[in-house]
Amino acid sequence: MSGRVLVVDDVPTNVKLLEAKLEAEYFEVISAFNGPDAIKLATAHNPDIILLDVMMPGMNGYEVCQALKSQPETRHIPVVMVTALDQQSEKVRGLEAGADDFLTKPVDDLALVARVRSLIRLKMMNDELRMRCATSQEIGLLSDSADTDFVETEGARVLVIEDKDFYIQKIKDTLSPRHTVIVQDDADEALMQARSDDFDVIIISLSLKKFDGLRVCSQMRSIETTRSLPILILVEEEDKNRLARGLEIGVNDYLLRPVDRNELIARTETQIRWKRYADQLRQDFQDGLELAVTDQLTGLYNRRYLATHLDKLIEKSYEKGRPVSLLIMDIDHFKNINDTYGHDVGDEVLQEFGRRLASNIRGIDLGCRYGGEEFVVVMPDTDISFAYMVAERLRQEVADQPFRVKGSHGELEVTISIGITASDQNARSEDMLKSADQALYQAKNEGRNKVVANAA
Ligand code: GH3
Ligand code: MG
Ligand code: MG
Repeated sequence: MSGRVLVVDDVPTNVKLLEAKLEAEYFEVISAFNGPDAIKLATAHNPDIILLDVMMPGMNGYEVCQALKSQPETRHIPVVMVTALDQQSEKVRGLEAGADDFLTKPVDDLALVARVRSLIRLKMMNDELRMRCATSQEIGLLSDSADTDFVETEGARVLVIEDKDFYIQKIKDTLSPRHTVIVQDDADEALMQARSDDFDVIIISLSLKKFDGLRVCSQMRSIETTRSLPILILVEEEDKNRLARGLEIGVNDYLLRPVDRNELIARTETQIRWKRYADQLRQDFQDGLELAVTDQLTGLYNRRYLATHLDKLIEKSYEKGRPVSLLIMDIDHFKNINDTYGHDVGDEVLQEFGRRLASNIRGIDLGCRYGGEEFVVVMPDTDISFAYMVAERLRQEVADQPFRVKGSHGELEVTISIGITASDQNARSEDMLKSADQALYQAKNEGRNKVVANAA
């Protein structure tokens, strides 16, 4: 994986050093030597990650970070603070400024590449999701108000796979009560739990007595439901070669023992933040999709969905050598209902009709609101005589039981007319809709509350 890295440091040799290391790993590097230039470059070139020196004359790293995190164009770019001071207070300040991670000078090669890779990977995934959401917003499927910039990290569920009491206690003391910490010392149990429970991050020790922590990581990565869960590993200093393996497997980040309290908080928070951000984007996208294919009033599929899927259904049925049937239904004299009782009552009738429709068709049938008071049902694997039966049942279901509406209107008599058709070898969706529509027209002409089949 490659990516574009913006390196910011007021000392040219520091920039050169990082540049060399990153270019050796095939990253594209751009650089700035002061804060204002860094902000300009970040805004213009949309880097995938920014390595930001803390101590710079004029604008210091914290101020630059704060500025980057407060403008929408650069807010989503991960920032790693690079500091010469290995002090807790520095790390805390960095996190307060919105930094995603930090590295200490002199920068360790493995740590550098690990952090950069992991954050770029997260960013690329989120860029993709952000783009999909933007598209959904553009075509009006998603409201602009969906706010993905603010992510709450509190109340996360953290699974800790560790068997040393001292460490278990330390992690619990550090992360709760802000988060819920669940500890497992048995790897198999932990895997099962990770699959069924809803965790935000998993912390895995690489020095478990009875289990190989790396194997646990790779198993987590191979199971669909845990594949994208962030994993933090706890590594002994002398175990650094296994750390490299872990990063290859796709572990998101690591902590060296003895674990620093602030670092534990920071790395856990970062993983939670990115995970929840991605979850939120994914949810927004899903909501957008759902909105795109459903009719808001009845919850049935909408016309747009029917148009795209009818042809596919027809094609699939031909492959199986089975016919598709289609019904078009129209509520009789619906205009009268609106005129007599008002539009709201009309809406209630449409909703109730939608419910009756949905509960009288099979799961594989596609029920759709085609327009105003017109509905379509597509029935795969169904010949016209069976379709006639379904249509007749629906007609009776409506005519025989009056519609109860709110207010003082009590119960309304409603009837529907139905036109049906079945596919022939060369039918396309338009042909079928037209054919069913002709049958419907005939049903209306013959007095309504009637089913008419059009064989063609
Ligand atoms: P026919 O038996 O020939 O079908 O007569 P009709 O009155 O049902 O048909 P017409 O097409 O004349 O009128 C349909 C009415 O449905 C007109 C329109 O205002 C109303 N309508 C369309 N969409 C909605 C809706 O979402 N809610 C409500 N309440 N009315 C709607
Ligand atoms: Mg009508
Ligand atoms: Mg009509």
